Amino acid sequence: MSLPEHGQPKDQILEALEAKRANDVRWQDGRTFGMVYDGGPELHAVQDAVASAFLHENALNTMAFPSLGQIQGEVVRAAADLCHGGDAAAGFMTSGGTESILMAVLAARERGRIERGIDRPEMVVGENAHAAFHKAAHSFGITLHKVPVRDDWRVDTDAMADCVTDSTVLVVGSAPAYPQGVIDDIETIAAIGADAGANVHTDACMGGFILPFAEQLGHDVPPWDFRVPGVTSISADIHKLGYAPKGASVILHRSKELRRYQTFVFDQWLGGFYASPNMQGTRSGLPMALAWATMWHLGLDGYQHLTDVALRAAAQMRAGVRAIDGIDVLGDPQFHLLAIAADPAPPAGAAGVDIFAVGDAMAARGWFHDRQAPPDSLHATVSAGNAPVMNAYLVDLADVVAEAQATAAAVDDRSTNYATLE
Ligand SMILES: *Cc1c(COP(=O)(O)O)cnc(C)c1O
Repeated sequence: MSLPEHGQPKDQILEALEAKRANDVRWQDGRTFGMVYDGGPELHAVQDAVASAFLHENALNTMAFPSLGQIQGEVVRAAADLCHGGDAAAGFMTSGGTESILMAVLAARERGRIERGIDRPEMVVGENAHAAFHKAAHSFGITLHKVPVRDDWRVDTDAMADCVTDSTVLVVGSAPAYPQGVIDDIETIAAIGADAGANVHTDACMGGFILPFAEQLGHDVPPWDFRVPGVTSISADIHKLGYAPKGASVILHRSKELRRYQTFVFDQWLGGFYASPNMQGTRSGLPMALAWATMWHLGLDGYQHLTDVALRAAAQMRAGVRAIDGIDVLGDPQFHLLAIAADPAPPAGAAGVDIFAVGDAMAARGWFHDRQAPPDSLHATVSAGNAPVMNAYLVDLADVVAEAQATAAAVDDRSTNYATLE
């Protein structure tokens, strides 16, 4: 396909793009568990207005756009405050959780090299840790030790300790881990890392903008942030439970000294002095301004409200799933993520359920979950936008499971699909 010979008018462009969306998930209806986190129509109105105002700005050089430097500073300070990093904590905005994780891993490698002379760096992560850590190890030449989870889906910290060597530059815990939604034992992980002189990263990409508000609402939240001694960095995605549009995350370090290891500075180029805080060069100001607008429009009370709505919906979903014969929730997630699997012990005489067949049948009814494995399960990230349709969801789910049991439905395609290439 080549470019049209003559440029097309605005109406035609909009119509063509709208037509392409025909098969996109219907997140606006609350029927998608992940991908888009909907903070409601009032927030959308603010975001729409800010989007057209900041569409063209470039944060490559904040001397040209001081507004973006200020926005980044304020967003990072607010995030550091939520993570109890105090005045010492320092960070940058990034394009998302993956980039925040890449920067945390790079900073750990550089610190290990410069302070400890480690030239063959290693890192230790749970098998529940996000795939982005594997991408980082691959990208930055680090040997990764993958540690199994225990029965409760939390990383096995004894096995973790066994993997630590003199060359360990980073130990990782998740709050919560994406696949089953449980929070690792961050205190023990941090002690293991600190003993080794290594960085310790809490991956709070999912939790960073919900756990602080859950705690403020009186929920029992296990320790995960900078109050845990030994934690040196935290990633928190504003474009997930921060309810900002895509392209916004924060990487935080306990101190400015630790943050220094993630930056790249080069002054031997014909183009002039080049200082770079993350993986990007030219850097859209759009998601930065949208993140700021979202955070300042919602405020603490707005986030507490959305957190309350999301956590109630998630609790209703867990209870509803557990009440359906033939399926179950994996482990005991307490917050907004859960994995739905076939009940491994179906009642005598009953056929086991193919959970992927259930997922496909739900998709036919307009509900979107990610497939994940192992073990075969359906993943749900619950946010405020899902709350209004949770009753309808559970009715459909009970229906679909009963149908799958009655027909012994099974699907041949066992592929999973967290992320795709094209
Ligand atoms: C989403 C997620 C990431 C990756 O973030 P992206 O914004 O998708 O790059 C990392 N860790 C956890 C726990 C996540 O949920």
